[in-house]
Amino acid sequence: MNQSQTVILTSPNHAPSKAYETALAQFDRAASRLGLDDSLQQFLRYPKREYTFNFPVKMDNGDVRMFTGYRVHHNIVLGPSKGGIRYAPHVSLDEVRALAMWMTWKCALVGLPYGGAKGGVIVDPRDLSLTENERLTRRFTSEMVSIISPYGDIPAPDMGTNSQTMAWMMDTYSMTVGYSVPAVVTGKPLNIGGSEGREEATGRGVIIIMEEALRREGIFDNQNTRLIVQGFGNVGSHAALYAQQLGYKVVGISDISGGVYNPEGLDIQKLFEYTRQKRRPMPTLKDYANEHNDVDFVTNQELLELECDVLIPAALEDQLTEENAHKIKAKLIVEGANGPTTPEADEIFQERGITVVPDILANAGGVTVSYFEWVQDLQMFSWDVEEVFRQLRRILLKAYDNVAEFAEKHDVTMRTAAQMYAINRVAQATMTRGIYP
Ligand code: NAD
Repeated sequence: MNQSQTVILTSPNHAPSKAYETALAQFDRAASRLGLDDSLQQFLRYPKREYTFNFPVKMDNGDVRMFTGYRVHHNIVLGPSKGGIRYAPHVSLDEVRALAMWMTWKCALVGLPYGGAKGGVIVDPRDLSLTENERLTRRFTSEMVSIISPYGDIPAPDMGTNSQTMAWMMDTYSMTVGYSVPAVVTGKPLNIGGSEGREEATGRGVIIIMEEALRREGIFDNQNTRLIVQGFGNVGSHAALYAQQLGYKVVGISDISGGVYNPEGLDIQKLFEYTRQKRRPMPTLKDYANEHNDVDFVTNQELLELECDVLIPAALEDQLTEENAHKIKAKLIVEGANGPTTPEADEIFQERGITVVPDILANAGGVTVSYFEWVQDLQMFSWDVEEVFRQLRRILLKAYDNVAEFAEKHDVTMRTAAQMYAINRVAQATMTRGIYP
């Protein structure tokens, strides 16, 4: 760093996160229904280890800016920890703790040999040029190099990151150890060890689970079912595209700028191509609404409350709350995002007879295909897309069965059943392994 460079400091975000409160409340409810021993409950409740990294990045204008990132390993009893890396301005240690805990339960629920982790950097990736994003990613990876590895902790994309981010992470790790290690991250591009089907896996999984829920609720009718999707990133866009392919009508969808609505159904492919144009700033759905007259513009709040049959929150936490839960019109809510529903809203939905298919089941398609990617990398053998989707469906529907069975047996909601099933699996493994020394 030379004398003329300016160092800009961004302070770590210690704001308490509602997401962590939600994750703990969900855990406490499920663990007490299971009647878990108090010490075991305490062990499962706390993250195993937490890291905070403050690191410099050289910006394009020559300034050096300090960033803060986190990685939390919640639990590693079932195997290496697994979980995404998020780039967002609202990232905080508490938020990452919540997301790491949900990863532990998600992996346990779908039967993957993984524990749970999550990471994040406090940054709005839209404020970074491509080269700044690359330097930030490479520096953050090098900060984490001693805590990630194919058998220790395996990152993946999440909000604000994508397959390009994973390529830079894989390359930085590989350059450090001196040989190529594709299995250190998942969600990579296909040409460097990514898996067929990973890009669309989470969204596709959301729709597989939604169809199963519609069947079990006795309201399956793809030609007349109207969907609203919040979020048009990896999860929301692929859920909407796949739903439309299957004949569902997606009547509303949003991104951070707001949403577009057409009661006759939107052309999701057209919206997808519009928002993925390579121009800066990246085009938003609000821009689309300004330039076209085949949609109405709505705010994110209005979107959630629109007339529909299925609501898929696929953006971020804390979207369905006691403020709006009474106004939701959907008969079924399928959680594409992690933690979009607060415990208060959950109670309102239960009273109103609205089924909520919980995040750890509904969006588990992503980590499931990440697991397939990791297996393929370790075996140096790749599967075709038909095999990926066949195995994905098999694993998700088996997990659905387990949740439904638990819900009936214990007379609890799908959320509590899913958490009970998952927590019990980690608790049993902990007892089998015993407490060291
Ligand atoms: P993404 O960054 O690709 O997309 C996020 C979308 O949400 C974008 O359309 C963005 O504009 C929108 N958004 C951001 N802030 C918003 C706000 N304040 N209000 C409304 N919309 C907003 O992220 P993603 O990977 O699609 O992840 C979305 C959610 O799904 C997150 O909760 C993530 O943890 C969860 N998830 C992702 C995966 C995965 O494989 N990517 C897997 C499981 C769960």
